[in-house]
Amino acid sequence: MIQKILIANRGEIALRIVRACRELGIKTLAVYSEADVQSLHVQLADEAICIGGNKSSESYLRADRIISAAEIADVDAIHPGYGFLSENAKFAEQCESCNIKFIGPKSKSIRMMGDKSIAKDTVRKAGVPIVPGSDGPVETEAEAVKIARKIGYPVIIKAVAGGGGRGMRIAHNDVSFAKEYHVARGEAEKAFGNGTVYLEKYIERPRHIEFQILADAHGKTLHLGERDCSVQRRHQKLIEESPSPFLTPDLRKKMGKAAIKASEAAEYENAGTIEFLVDAKGNFYFIEMNTRIQVEHPVTEEVTGIDIVKQQIQIANGEKIEFDQGDIKFEKHAIECRINAEDPSRNFAPSPGTIGLYYAPGGLGVRVDSHAYSGYTIPPYYDSMIGKLICYGPTRKAALERSYRALSEYLIRGIKTTIPLHRAIMADPVFIEGKATTAYMEDFLGRTAADLFS
Ligand code: ADP
Repeated sequence: MIQKILIANRGEIALRIVRACRELGIKTLAVYSEADVQSLHVQLADEAICIGGNKSSESYLRADRIISAAEIADVDAIHPGYGFLSENAKFAEQCESCNIKFIGPKSKSIRMMGDKSIAKDTVRKAGVPIVPGSDGPVETEAEAVKIARKIGYPVIIKAVAGGGGRGMRIAHNDVSFAKEYHVARGEAEKAFGNGTVYLEKYIERPRHIEFQILADAHGKTLHLGERDCSVQRRHQKLIEESPSPFLTPDLRKKMGKAAIKASEAAEYENAGTIEFLVDAKGNFYFIEMNTRIQVEHPVTEEVTGIDIVKQQIQIANGEKIEFDQGDIKFEKHAIECRINAEDPSRNFAPSPGTIGLYYAPGGLGVRVDSHAYSGYTIPPYYDSMIGKLICYGPTRKAALERSYRALSEYLIRGIKTTIPLHRAIMADPVFIEGKATTAYMEDFLGRTAADLFS
């Protein structure tokens, strides 16, 4: 039985995990960097151990120090959250060999889905449609150009080890391909220490629609419906909602089945996400699996009433999922806005610093997951997300109106945030009509930047 969990993360997700543990009667150990000594996760966990310096490479990415902390504090399990070591198969393996439960899938599944070209091959063999592209990595420029022509332009060049929207470039012809190929490789090498890339057909104006999976160790795999994450800037999600305004019941059923098949092909256990791109005609293509809890999981929690983090812990504990696919009801609509400490008027430059006044919205149908508070100093070393606002109601219209209202109440003084941008999107007719594709943000900023930021 899991009695104590080390949380190998920081920020709002560390807090989210503390909350689930409290409700389950499980003790928590926070680990933190020197810069995070004032952090809420450190204050709210039962115990806390400092594991190193400010940079993540000196702290949150140090598997050795995290495992030492786990041994010193005698924990039974480690929850990796998202980012940092959450999709590191070696770390999962180290936990397994130290007899500490890794709250996530087996290292084998992480490895299989972590290499994007192996992942595509695995799910294709299981009969799930994938985006047309190269058969695995491309080795030389000459070979790559040949394949790009065969796929047909535009093509997207993607890092095998990619994540967070980095190491991705689009080419429209041979000339731009020659340039972008090298840029993509360079970016991938810098970001992931692995410059290997592969090619895909670039789907124009698709929607990003993903399915939340839960799978236990007893052979049960379920999906908790979809999230539409089409509102993205530079391939990074800004707004997520469920259900997707685009899916018909028929397409939802088909994609849900495909998501379960993809997950089973990876022999997946625990919570995971199958990501698809969907074109205007409703053709859908697998792009990747995220083998961890995702930032946007609360949207699904509010629609289904299922606590995904608790499920993760119970699954890691060897328990069976107590419900079946037919028991899951999708009766609400939920929208999440990512609140980033960024200045949208200065090309989204990070805006770390001390928050003067912090006041989070409340009321019916409003959830805020955040580690921010009045007087909190946002360190410049980590990502800029400081909170998530999730608003829900019986209909999409209710969720939209509530989001607009809550965004108008949210006060964060002393730093710049994406709150005004979100408010403008909630009032934008294209978004309100449910027509946003992954091309939406660029269009929106082009149409409105002059008014918004003047
Ligand atoms: P990452 O792991 O870096 O997040 P993904 O493969 O999940 O990368 O893709 C992130 C986003 O990039 C997608 O949501 C989509 O907007 C865009 N994208 C990825 N592949 C394609 C493609 N083949 N065609 C069009 N857009 C794509």
